[in-house]
Amino acid sequence: MIKLYNTLSRSKENLNTLKKNRVKLFVCGPTVYDNSHIGHARTYISFDVIARYLKYQGFSVFYLQNITDIDDKIINRAAKTGRDPIDLAREFEAEYLKDMKALGVESVNIYARATEHLPEIIAQIETLLDKGFAYETESGVYFDESKFTDFGKLSNRKIEDLHVHRIKPDPHKRNPGDFALWKKKDMKPFWDSPWGPGRPGWHIEDTAITGEYFGPQYDIHGGGLDLIFPHHEAEIAQMESASGLKPMVRYWMHTGFLNVKGEKMSKSLGNFITIKELLKEYPAEVFRFFVLSTHYRSPIDFSQEILEQSQNSLKRIYKFHETIGEFLSDGLPEKGENDELYMEILEDTRSKFLEAMDNDFNTPHALSLLFDFIRETNRKFKENDTSKESLYNIKSFLTEIGEILGFNFTAPSLEVGDDLTGELIDILINTRQKLREKKDWELSDEIRNKLGDLDINLEDK
Ligand code: AMP
Repeated sequence: MIKLYNTLSRSKENLNTLKKNRVKLFVCGPTVYDNSHIGHARTYISFDVIARYLKYQGFSVFYLQNITDIDDKIINRAAKTGRDPIDLAREFEAEYLKDMKALGVESVNIYARATEHLPEIIAQIETLLDKGFAYETESGVYFDESKFTDFGKLSNRKIEDLHVHRIKPDPHKRNPGDFALWKKKDMKPFWDSPWGPGRPGWHIEDTAITGEYFGPQYDIHGGGLDLIFPHHEAEIAQMESASGLKPMVRYWMHTGFLNVKGEKMSKSLGNFITIKELLKEYPAEVFRFFVLSTHYRSPIDFSQEILEQSQNSLKRIYKFHETIGEFLSDGLPEKGENDELYMEILEDTRSKFLEAMDNDFNTPHALSLLFDFIRETNRKFKENDTSKESLYNIKSFLTEIGEILGFNFTAPSLEVGDDLTGELIDILINTRQKLREKKDWELSDEIRNKLGDLDINLEDK
């Protein structure tokens, strides 16, 4: 039985989905005004593995993500660069999708753009107005938080805390905590609505989109910790008020932050590394390993050293896989007297691995079990003969784990970048050859030493 931590109940609960063997999973997608950073990647890799594991356990998973392609950040960035906001959003949406592909995040079934769900957004606002949960002012349509008594149930904040405002509250609003469902605007981009031209508020796009694809109630809603308040709180208020059904979502899952020196990596703090920058230096699977080495709810402190450690750990798994390949080409017997022994170790590891994953997707524990398995099997290889059968079983076990966690252990690619690296090395080697021909030993030695620092060792014959 899978147990997962529910932010709403602040406890681990058994996963009981609305429909047997089906999971409807929604995770807040990015606001596409710039390239995504590795903090975003942490959250999306975590949910990728959660979706992969649910599938592995036989669930049919419908994983939906929205794309916030209309927002003040997009409009401001476009204005600064003299671009059309929608064009800008399309460009960074494409970059985001490329990044996700490069990171092996493949489990999302549908990416839904806010701008393509204006009719659903408007319909939901109309329902909220009809039911008396919203009101219109000269600046827009607002949700009346005083009408929703459950406000604060997810973030565990009291209603009084919601009233603390750093900026002067809008005098048109009934309560300082009321949030915009529709913002009246006549500057492009705007959409027509019963309340005149304007744009949707941020929170309503998600409930309009989930309402469209999932209906008013679904299984899991995910996102980073920063979204609990006010975003997810507002989503609950909107959907539960509009539908009259509770709860909108059975399980709320939140990822911890990827931090830099204790501070959340974010665009606004300027302490970010984009996914593209990272992937120039490290292969995607190293970053995935780094992410999965920490539980998804805990903070991760990003550092070069830990990435290096992740790279080395991953190499150990690849090396183990390689060793099996070498043994297999050694003309072993089909079956052997120790097959049962190897099978016992393997089954024991598998059941513990699945237990760790069942326990709120405890990937660091699951990975440590894999290393225990590698250590023990390697030791047994030295003491006991193996057979092809045992080795094939171990190999397919690795493939099985790889599929759950998103690694391809059978085709290791711990090379960074692409052929360009190889070509650059060739250029350096040829240049050095020319220097040697000119007897410039000093410079040619310097190139050799620098390449040596990168583990590229040249021997002059
Ligand atoms: P945004 O585009 O800022 O709305 O972020 C998209 C997703 O990435 C949200 O679920 C955020 O919570 C998450 N996110 C943003 N920064 C970080 C971070 N430093 N660590 C983990 N998740 C993050």
